[in-house]
Amino acid sequence: MAKVAFIGLGTMGYPMAGHLVKAGHEVCVYNRTLSKAEQWVSQYGQHLALTPAAAAEGAEFVMTCVGNDQDLRQVTLGEEGVIHTLGRDAVLIDHTTASAAIARELDAACREQGAGFLDAPVSGGQAGAENGALGIMVGGDDATFARGEPIMQAYAKAIKHLGEAGNGQLTKMVNQICIAGLLQGLAEATHFLKRAGLEGEAVFDVIQHGAAGSWQMSNRHQTMLNDQYDFGFAVDWMRKDLSLVLDEARRNGARLPVTALVDQFYADVQEMGGGRWDTSSPLKRLEP
Ligand code: NAP
Repeated sequence: MAKVAFIGLGTMGYPMAGHLVKAGHEVCVYNRTLSKAEQWVSQYGQHLALTPAAAAEGAEFVMTCVGNDQDLRQVTLGEEGVIHTLGRDAVLIDHTTASAAIARELDAACREQGAGFLDAPVSGGQAGAENGALGIMVGGDDATFARGEPIMQAYAKAIKHLGEAGNGQLTKMVNQICIAGLLQGLAEATHFLKRAGLEGEAVFDVIQHGAAGSWQMSNRHQTMLNDQYDFGFAVDWMRKDLSLVLDEARRNGARLPVTALVDQFYADVQEMGGGRWDTSSPLKRLEP
C-alpha cells in the first residue's frame, strides 16, 4: 500500500481522500481551512499537515484537487507548495479542472526534480466522488500513468490515458462543450413543452428512451420541471470551465459559437443570483 498526500478537501477531494484510506493507503491531508482537515482526520483516523509541502514530504503519490489555476499554482509551485518536498520518483496527480498550460508547466517542474506528473480532471460530480465512481481523463507519459492508475482506482469507475501532459485537461474541455450545448437544448425543450401545454413527465418518459435521450435528460428533467436547481455542479464552476475552453479555442482556432453563447447565458444566470444553482438553470433564464 502506498503513502499518499491529498491537498484540497472540498466537495470532491474530501470523499476522494476517504476512498484512498478505504483502499488501504496511508494518507496525509492538507486543507487551507484547517477545521475541514481536522474533521476529515477525525473521521478517517489518518494524518494532517499544516502546509502542502509538509503533506508531500515522503509521499509516493501527491494528489491535488483545488478550485482553479491560481489555487493550483499556490499549492504546487507557491512558497509552501508541494514541489519543494516532492521526492525523486514521487508522482504528482492533479484532479483540479484547470488549463492545459498549467498541466504542462507542472509536468516540466516535476521532471526537473525527477518526479512524475499526471493531469487527471474528473467527471461524475459530488455523487461520483462519494460513491468512488468518477470518470478520470489522464494526460502524462506512459510510465507515470502505469504507476498512478492503480492508486486512482480507489475512486474511479473509468480511467482513460489520453496521451501527453495537458491532454487530460483538453479532454475535460471536450466534456464541458458537450454538456453546455446539451443543457441549453434541454432548457429550450422544457420551455417549449410547457408553452405547448404538454405534460412534462409524460413527454420525457417517452423521449428519454430514444435518440434525444441523455444523462442530463434522465437525471435532471424532473427537477427542471419542478423549478429546482440545487442538484450538483454549479454555474460558477461551469463558467470557470467554459472560460478555459474558450481560451483554448482561441489558441487552437476551433470555432465554438454555441458554447460561447451558452457561456453568456450562464453569465445571465449569475446576474440573476444563480451562481450556485446547478447547470440545468438556463431554463430559469427563459422562465424567471
Ligand atoms: P470546492 O468544494 O470549492 O473545494 C475546493 C478546495 O480547494 C477546498 O478544499 C479549498 O480549500 C481548496 N482551495 C481553493 N483555493 C485554494 C488555495 N488558494 N490554496 C489552498 N487550497 C485552496 O470545489 P470542488 O467542488 O471540490 O471542486 C474541485 C475541482 O474539481 C474544481 O476544479 C472543479 O471544477 C472540479 N470538479 C468539480 C465537480 C463538482 O461537481 N463539484 C465535478 C467535476 C470536477 P478551503 O476548504 O479552504 O476553501
